[in-house]
Amino acid sequence: MGLTDPHATPAADCLAGLDATPDGLTAPEAARRLAEHGPNRLPEVRARGPVVRFLRQFHNVLIYVLIGAAVVTGALQHWVDTGVILAVVLANAVIGFIQEGKAEAAMAAIRSMLAPKAAVLRDGRRVSVDGTNLVPGDIVLLEAGDKVPADLRVIEARGLAAQEAILTGESVPVEKGQTPVATDAALGDRRSMLWSGTLVTQGTARGLVVATGAGTEIGRIGGLLAGVEQLTTPLVAQIDHFARWLSVLILLVAGLLLVWGYYVGHMPFADLFMAVVGVAVAAIPEGLPAVMTITLAIGVQAMARRNAIVRRLPAIEAIGSVSVICTDKTGTLTRNEMVVTAAETADGAFAIDGEGYAPEGAITPAGDLVPLARAAALCNDAALHCKDGVWTVEGDPMEGALLAFAGKVGSDRGQRRLDAIPFDSRHRFMAVLTEGAQGRLIHVKGAPERVLRMCAGLDHAHWHHRAEQLARQGLRVLALAERAGTGDRIDPATLEGGLTFLGLVGLIDPPRPEAIAAVAECRTAGIRVKMITGDHAGTAAAIAAQIGLANPHRVLTGADLDKLDDAQLALEVADVDIFARTSPEHKLRLVTALQAHGLAVAMTGDGVNDAPALKRADAGIAMGLKGSEAAKEAADLVLADDNFASIAAAVREGRTVYDNLKKVISWTLPTNAGESMVVVLALLLGLAMPITAVQILWINLITGITLGLALAFEPTEAGTMTRPPRPRHAPILSGELVWHVVLVALLFLTAVFGVFTYAIGKGYPLALAQTMAMNTLVVLEIFQLFFIRNIHSTSLTWAAVRGTRVVWTVVVAVTAAQFGVTYLSPLQAVLGTEAVPFRDGLLIIGVGVAFFAIIEIEKQIRLGFRG
Ligand code: ATP
Repeated sequence: MGLTDPHATPAADCLAGLDATPDGLTAPEAARRLAEHGPNRLPEVRARGPVVRFLRQFHNVLIYVLIGAAVVTGALQHWVDTGVILAVVLANAVIGFIQEGKAEAAMAAIRSMLAPKAAVLRDGRRVSVDGTNLVPGDIVLLEAGDKVPADLRVIEARGLAAQEAILTGESVPVEKGQTPVATDAALGDRRSMLWSGTLVTQGTARGLVVATGAGTEIGRIGGLLAGVEQLTTPLVAQIDHFARWLSVLILLVAGLLLVWGYYVGHMPFADLFMAVVGVAVAAIPEGLPAVMTITLAIGVQAMARRNAIVRRLPAIEAIGSVSVICTDKTGTLTRNEMVVTAAETADGAFAIDGEGYAPEGAITPAGDLVPLARAAALCNDAALHCKDGVWTVEGDPMEGALLAFAGKVGSDRGQRRLDAIPFDSRHRFMAVLTEGAQGRLIHVKGAPERVLRMCAGLDHAHWHHRAEQLARQGLRVLALAERAGTGDRIDPATLEGGLTFLGLVGLIDPPRPEAIAAVAECRTAGIRVKMITGDHAGTAAAIAAQIGLANPHRVLTGADLDKLDDAQLALEVADVDIFARTSPEHKLRLVTALQAHGLAVAMTGDGVNDAPALKRADAGIAMGLKGSEAAKEAADLVLADDNFASIAAAVREGRTVYDNLKKVISWTLPTNAGESMVVVLALLLGLAMPITAVQILWINLITGITLGLALAFEPTEAGTMTRPPRPRHAPILSGELVWHVVLVALLFLTAVFGVFTYAIGKGYPLALAQTMAMNTLVVLEIFQLFFIRNIHSTSLTWAAVRGTRVVWTVVVAVTAAQFGVTYLSPLQAVLGTEAVPFRDGLLIIGVGVAFFAIIEIEKQIRLGFRG
């Protein structure tokens, strides 16, 4: 079984060749074929193998320095130092390898959450299956915005076009149809085919699967180019860059110190060399980029748990900085569980009872709603299913509600569809041509303004008023109309002015309670929420008031927007929160206008035409459930549940990640600066080293990686969502941070030198004085960790002391390790330490407390000035 040139073969022959029918395969046959052909999946692009990944851990300035140092110490026959250095190098690589593996696994898990679904016909019924379960012979249904899930032979098409850039490089969409093309046509000219991985930009299609998985064209050219995303964001890249230059600078300074110490200070080379290595190790923030990457990966996972799936990592930073969220209404702020509650015809107004999608409920007063209900049922792509007494909808919930309404009236479909003009948010109506007992009929449903314009012989003003009245109650309003059909195609020209108006229906779509809470949360967080909807201005305003938008009184419609030029729009956009009857093009203009105010904008979207606005926004957010693949591809984030509350949760997580990145930096830089200044000062003054190079290696290995890493796991600080958003391009290396680095480094210097001098003054041996100095450094780092955990508020609360499990785990681990190296003789031999007397231990802790008090008071003063 198989086809040689499906693009050149008539559709019917392709079907026959694959033993398929236009109604699709049976489920058992599909299962059999799946077993035969394997899943419809591209062979994994093999990411870098573990060996390469492990070796890459050694590609790092610090490691080069250390390996150089190991060679030199080896040459000087300082075997203990050589051993310690090599152990550190190895431990560093192993830890980096494990961390990177975890971060990559987290990203891979997220990617698989975005696996696309495909609508296929199985046993003659439309069902949604995982794209991987498609088999040759399946009939796939596609519409604008879908990603083509396999190579398909088009067997039916309406206004179909696809964008095939990933395959042909051609970014202009190509029109498609079912007519065979020449056998030797180039890939881009095979208009009877839809290729896996390309996007349907307009129209609808039925396609016969002719090739899956590695057999597809995209599979043949060697897998998707999408590949593995780099684990980086602008901030991490910036810090990575910074760290690299800092390393170069430090090496330079170290080199100068070596020269100075040897020629000016006349120090013995071996000691001097080890001291200079100590400076380099202490100063280079080697762990920083790795810990930041972990912080990001943890953020990605936290967002996924809150139903926000990150597609592009920079979005994590962007979403935390947004000051405006532009959101859709239907399904995001509202539940998208619709019920028809009102109908109006020339006979009067009717109330419709009933809950959910069950086609049962009373209609009062009694009246003839059959023509209206028939239009609602026929001009409809959804299906209702009843399982165990629960009615569910397959397709658009609004259309499901219309079917339930038709069921209540007692009208069935009873006609066969010949042709349809699918709904499009730009023309706002849908039309179908059917044939049956009533002959050929055209039914149209759509936005009242649009449908009324197509109808003749009625009081337009009256009906506009009626529609307005329904909309004001927060109902979504549709108008229905019909006419006799001719031919077997709908000629759009015959619709204008030629329809008979049937009536209006009003549907409720209640706001999501959690969205109301989330909007309130956004308001306290200084984020303005704006609603951009295709719905009627009246409906939008009513829902906006229920949801609690800041300004539910002014509405700009798409028509209003068209009248404003960009400058006027920029003026208006700040104060208006409701944009109704908009088209996707308006979204792009609105994002641009808001950005012109320097605001960071999040924008939601679901349709294929929303892609430009999603790309333009600082954070483009696509709907995971009802969104098209095209929107998802353009977005930075995808909401697994389409819920506005998940956007607010993502903002909170985004702010948390940013804070944690900042904490990691604010902890690492001053710690490194303090450590290295201690050694540099001793060298310059020609004093004995307060801490040996090996001890510095030990401190950096234990603290740099464990204590710093604890900050990656920090939970959201209280008050995170009551702060205003940070400015869009706020630099992370701010004046405040520089001040913090200087202050803490100086305090470290004073404390370590102070304890060291005290010990020497007491007549302790050098080794003991050094041990005390090293322990002082670690104690200061631990206090600094507790301080950094609350950068926006006081650390003097019970919650701050209680900390988190992670924090206390690392603190206990580091403390235990310090006790080990201070009191266990084998470790004492390696690190050159001596047991510290109990009272001096207390003194060291006292120094830590004093240090903490000083920086905490300094923070209170700073916060006091700001507040
Ligand atoms: P949002 O952007 O908030 O999701 P929306 O879903 O209401 O808004 P659209 O889907 O663009 O926006 O719908 C705009 C209008 O088009 C609706 O108010 C309705 O009148 C009409 N409409 C929506 N769906 C259909 C449909 N399937 N058939 C006919 N008309 C429709």
